[in-house]
Amino acid sequence: MRTQRQVVDYSLQRRAVLRDVHSGRVGVHEVCDASPYLKNAARFHGEPTEERCPMCRHEDLTLVHYIYGDELKQSAGQARKLAELPMLAMTLSEFQVYVVEVCQGCSWNHLVEQYLLGRDGLEADETAGETGRRRGAER
Ligand SMILES: [Zn+2]
Repeated sequence: MRTQRQVVDYSLQRRAVLRDVHSGRVGVHEVCDASPYLKNAARFHGEPTEERCPMCRHEDLTLVHYIYGDELKQSAGQARKLAELPMLAMTLSEFQVYVVEVCQGCSWNHLVEQYLLGRDGLEADETAGETGRRRGAER
């Protein structure tokens, strides 16, 4: 996405958790603890992937996008479909997105990444270019 910035990638932490589970330092029940809310969010707003769950190796993972930010008001903390984010990014100046992977089979879940979206990320020259292009397309 164009305005995506301050991306924090959690794949190292994820790998560390999986290593701990495989070595027995951490119990499976401690990491496969997706709440009913999270599993519902995955079912209704989730983005299906073709990546197998690293725990049960049976189901494909679903990505859930949670949005946070003062401008969101009562929508803060809600899960949104990935397709809704570009529209929000054009409307709001800044909000935080947390991407969580969920297995709807065994309830494995882990934070994948977080990033900021919003109009604030558009540089002045970029905005000018985009406005020009959009004006052209609208006519
Ligand atoms: Zn699983």
